[in-house]
Amino acid sequence: MNTTEQLRLSALDTLNLLDTPPDAAFDNLTRLAADVFQAPIALISLVARDRQWFKSRVGIDTSETLRSISFCHYAVGSQSMLVVEDALTDPCFAQNPIVTGDPGIRFYAGAPIHSPDGHVLGTLCILDKQRRQFDDSARRTLTLMASQVDQLIYMHSQQQALDQATRKTYATRARYEAVFKGAAAGIIRINGQGLILEINDSTQKMLGYTADELMGQNVKVLMPAHWGHAHDGYLQAYQATGKARIIGKGREVQAKHKDGTIIPVHLAVSEVHYDNHDDSQPNTREFIGILSDMRDISAIRHSEAQERALLQVLHEGLTDYHALISGNTLWRFLKEALKNLTGSQYALIGEVILSDDKPALKIHAMTDLSWDESLRQMRDRLMSGAALLSNPGTMLGRVFTRGEVVIDNSMDRNPFSETVPKNHPVLHRFLGVPILDRGQVIGMYAIANADHDYDQDLVKWLEPFNSTCALLINLYRQLSQQQAFMRELQEARDLAERSSQAKTEFLSSMSHELRTPLNSILGFAQLLRNGKQPLSERQQRQTDQILRSGRHLLNLINEVLDLARIESGHMQVSMEPINVGDALREAIDILSPIATQHGISLVIQHLDPALPRVMADYTRLKQVLINLISNGIKYNKPSGQVTLRCTYNEQSVSIYVKDTGIGIPAEKINDLFMPFNRLGAESGSIEGTGVGLALTRKLVELMQGRIGVTSQQDQGSEFWFELALAPSVIATHADGQTLLATQHGKPLWRVLYIEDNPANQRLLHDFFDELGDIQLQCVHSAEVGIELACSDPPALILMDIDLPGMCGFQAQQMLANNPLTRSIPVVAVSAGKTAHRITDEQLTRFAGYITKPFDLPVLAERVLSLLKNTLSAS
Ligand code: ADP
Repeated sequence: MNTTEQLRLSALDTLNLLDTPPDAAFDNLTRLAADVFQAPIALISLVARDRQWFKSRVGIDTSETLRSISFCHYAVGSQSMLVVEDALTDPCFAQNPIVTGDPGIRFYAGAPIHSPDGHVLGTLCILDKQRRQFDDSARRTLTLMASQVDQLIYMHSQQQALDQATRKTYATRARYEAVFKGAAAGIIRINGQGLILEINDSTQKMLGYTADELMGQNVKVLMPAHWGHAHDGYLQAYQATGKARIIGKGREVQAKHKDGTIIPVHLAVSEVHYDNHDDSQPNTREFIGILSDMRDISAIRHSEAQERALLQVLHEGLTDYHALISGNTLWRFLKEALKNLTGSQYALIGEVILSDDKPALKIHAMTDLSWDESLRQMRDRLMSGAALLSNPGTMLGRVFTRGEVVIDNSMDRNPFSETVPKNHPVLHRFLGVPILDRGQVIGMYAIANADHDYDQDLVKWLEPFNSTCALLINLYRQLSQQQAFMRELQEARDLAERSSQAKTEFLSSMSHELRTPLNSILGFAQLLRNGKQPLSERQQRQTDQILRSGRHLLNLINEVLDLARIESGHMQVSMEPINVGDALREAIDILSPIATQHGISLVIQHLDPALPRVMADYTRLKQVLINLISNGIKYNKPSGQVTLRCTYNEQSVSIYVKDTGIGIPAEKINDLFMPFNRLGAESGSIEGTGVGLALTRKLVELMQGRIGVTSQQDQGSEFWFELALAPSVIATHADGQTLLATQHGKPLWRVLYIEDNPANQRLLHDFFDELGDIQLQCVHSAEVGIELACSDPPALILMDIDLPGMCGFQAQQMLANNPLTRSIPVVAVSAGKTAHRITDEQLTRFAGYITKPFDLPVLAERVLSLLKNTLSAS
C-alpha cells in the first residue's frame, strides 16, 4: 500500500464517518443527484480498505460492496472524475460482476469527495442500467455536487471535534467537581468583591453552614469581626496594588463557625483569572481559598504548651524553692502558676494545720477578689493567719477536712454555693483539690471560673503539680522550723554574749578590787620579813607562805583578767616588726634564776642571724615565751632541760619550746588549752592556776599566729607557735641616710624613748646617734620612764602607747599631772591609730603623733622642730 493510500485511509478513520447512521444532509444530496441526472442509482460512497460503504444511497438496498468490484475504487485511485458511459464496451468493467450480473450496470459517473485536509475519501456517483452519455455540463454539475458533499464532510469533522472537546470539558468539569466536592480541605471560591461563588462540603461541615446559606454572601461572614472589617479594604487594596498578605502565601488565621465559635484554620488563597473573550470587559478575577482545620493541631500545640508550662513551674518550684521560701514568694508563685496553667480567673492555695485538734485551712495566697470592704478585711485576716477556715460544710471545707476532690461546673445550681460569703464574686465553675502527703491532707488548692469545664482529666494532669506542692509545703515547714530554731539560737547566743560581757565586767572589777588589798598583804608581808625585828623561824615560814600565796593569787588575778579581756575583745595588741631573738633572750634572762632553782638548764639552739622579724606585740610575745618556758621548767624532771629553737620559711617563723619533762598523756592533749584545766596537776605539788596555756593560745591567736604541741608521756613535750613575717622596713631606714648626713656636732638634747620592743629601741638609738644633736635614752616600761623623767627630765619623751603594765595614755596622764614633768612634750608612738582604737581626742593630749614602722626623715624633722620650739620657748 502506498503512502497516499495510507494517509487517505487514516483520514477516513479519523473522520469516523464509516458505518454512521443515515444523515439527512447527505441523503438530500444523493436524492438531488438522482433527480438532477435522472439516474436510478445515486450514491455517496466511502472507499475503505476492502470495501466501499455508502454514506447515502438511492436506488440500491445494500449498504456496501466489495472494493474490488466497485467503480469508485478507480475514481479514488485516479483522484479524478471517472465516467464509464457503456460498461459492456469498457475493457476495465465489461467483466465486472455488477455489469455482467445483477443489477446489470451499464453507466457510471463518479466525482471524488475529500476529507477537510484534501484526501480523496470516495465519490458522489450516479449509476444506470442503461448506457448513457455524460457531457461536460453534466460533469461540472456532478463536480459541484461532490464539492457540496465535501462541505458536509467538513461540517461532520467540525462536529466531531466539537463533540470531542465537549466530552473533554465534561470530563475536566467532572474531575474538578469530584476534587472540589470530595476534598478533605474546605474550598471557597469568591469573586473580586469578596462574594462567595462556591463552597464545598468540607467548608460546610467545618463552618456549620449549608451552601445555600452562603452563596452570594460576603466571605467576611466566615471571619471574626475584627478581621472581617478589614477584609473588604484588603481585597480592594490587593487588586489595586498587588500587595498580598495571604494570597499566594497561606497562613494561620481564625474562621468563625455559624454558632459563633472561633476556629483556628490554615488558609491558602490563590488568585484565578478567566478570559472573558470579550475585549470590552476586563477579565474575571476570582479567588480560591483552601481552608485546613487546625483545631487538632492547635489542640496539640496548646497541650504541648501546657505541658511545657507545667514542667517550667515544677522546675522553677524545685530549683528555686529556697529563694521562693526565704523571699516569701513561694505561695504567690504557686497560686499564679495554678491560675495560668488552668486558665482560671481565681486561685487559692493553703496549708492545713490543726486548730483545737481539728483541721483548719491557713490560706497562704489567693487571688484578690475583694468586692467590698468587708470581704477585703476578711481576706487580710485569712492571709495574715489571724483567721483560719474550719467549716467542713463549705466547698473548701469538703476538700481540706475530708480530702475530697470537688468539681462543680454549675455552681449556680449548687447548694454549697450558699456557703460562699455574701458579696463574693460569682463562681460558675469550681475545682478544689487536696494536697496529700503520705495519705494526709497537708494543704489544698482551689481554682474557679475557667472558660472551660473542670474535670478529672485536669486533676490527673495536675498531679505532678500537686506532689510538688506537697514537697514544697514540707520544705516550707522544715525551713520555718529551722528559722524558728535559728532565732532561738540567736537569742540564746545574744543572752550568752550579754552574760559573758557581764562576767568579764565582773571579773575585771573583782580583779581590781582584789588587787588593792592583795598589794597591801604582799607589801606588809615583805615589811614583816625584812623588818628590823627578826622573825622567829616559824613566823618566817608563815610570812613566806603569805608571800607565796599572795603572789600566786596576784598571778591568777592577772591571768584571769587578761583572759577575760581577750574574750571580751578588750585586749589590744600592738603589732610591729619584732626580732624574736630579743624576746627569747629577755625571757630567758627573766626565767634563768627559776630554772637554776629547779636545776633545769635553759638552752637556745643556734639562732640564725638572718632570722626574719615577725609581726607581733613585743610584750605579749614575751608573755607567751615566759608561759611556755616556765611550764617547761615546772613540769620537767630533775636535771632536765628546756631547749628553744626557731625555724622560718617565706611566710612565718616558728618557735619551739622543748622540755625533757613528764609529758602529757595523749588523751589529755585536747584539754590542754582549756582554762582552769590542770589535767590532774592540781593534786600534785607543782603550783599553777590552769590558765596560762589558755591565755597563751589566745595571745598567739590575737597576734594572728597558731600554736600547737607534740608530747610523749614521760619523755617530754614540745610546744610550738608560729607568727607571720613582718614586711621589710629597710627602705625607711635607707631614706633616713640623707638626713643623717646633714646633721653633725655634739648632742644638744636628751630624748627619752619609752618602748618595750628592743628592736625599735635599737633602731632609734642608732638613728639619733648618727644624727649627733640628740642623745636617746631608752626604757622598756612606763613606770621606769616616769621615774627617770622625774629624776632627770629629758627635753622630749617618745611614748609608745602599747606598753606592758601601764599604757602610754596613763603614763602621759601621770606626766601631765606631775609638776616636775608637766612641761616635757610627749610624742605618742604607735603602730597605727585604728590598730589601737586611738581617738583624736586622746591624741590632742600629746605634743605629736608618730606611727610605726618609722619614716625616719619625718620622725627626725618632727622631733627636731619640737625640740627647737621647746628651746625657743625656754
Ligand atoms: P598551770 O598554771 O597549771 O601550769 P597551764 O595552763 O600553763 O596551767 O597548763 C595547764 C596544764 O597543762 C598544767 O596544769 C599541766 O598539767 C599541763 N602542762 C602544761 N605544760 C606542760 C608541759 N610542758 N609538760 C607537761 N605538762 C604540761
